[in-house]
Amino acid sequence: MLVIGLTGGIGTGKTEVSRLLQELGATVLNADQVGHEAYTPHSEAWNEVVKAFGESILQDSGEIDRRKLGGIVFADPDQLEILNGIMHPRMAAIVREKLQGLNQGGVEVAVIEAAVLFEAGWDSLVDEVWTTESPEPLVVARLQERNGFSPEEIRKRIASQMSSSERSDRATEVVNNSGELADLENTVRAIWKRRVEGRIEH
Ligand code: ATP
Repeated sequence: MLVIGLTGGIGTGKTEVSRLLQELGATVLNADQVGHEAYTPHSEAWNEVVKAFGESILQDSGEIDRRKLGGIVFADPDQLEILNGIMHPRMAAIVREKLQGLNQGGVEVAVIEAAVLFEAGWDSLVDEVWTTESPEPLVVARLQERNGFSPEEIRKRIASQMSSSERSDRATEVVNNSGELADLENTVRAIWKRRVEGRIEH
């Protein structure tokens, strides 16, 4: 099984690229979903996060309010480090387990989509890394539209992440997403053809 790590800054097109890769036949694991799973109420990670950040981050249902938690950690790098220290190892264990299951199930190409792939050290779980890149003004406009975040909120989140140049330096492939969605589709198909076809049977 070929395992591709898909990373990229907030709003640079990871979800769109995942969707395209799925259409091309890949099976995608999303770090956000893995995070949700790790956050299951009363799991080990949930307990530690509540201990570290207090019960005010909980919704009435007992679930962690991720938007509230995001507001705390993206405003304070120390808090983000605490959260990452709790979550990244647990999420890696879940990813490893899921990859094993996919491999045993005969999957040929698996993709792990994670904004924090490098920060969390998950590049060691994959064969190669692709990173999406988009100019910052486009990212700000898209996220204002999608999440209703203010430009300031978006810039804070961008600043809290690894720089896009560092990500690109460390990646095997840069997926340029500075055009229309149709351009992105062509870009992804071309990279797939070059890097994946020929390494799989179908
Ligand atoms: P996040 O890290 O916040 O989850 P992401 O990297 O997964 O973001 P997407 O969700 O794929 O990014 O893209 C952000 C928003 O911009 C989405 O609403 C998406 O549909 C839109 N978008 C992405 N690429 C393009 C494009 N080339 N043209 C127009 N809209 C785009």
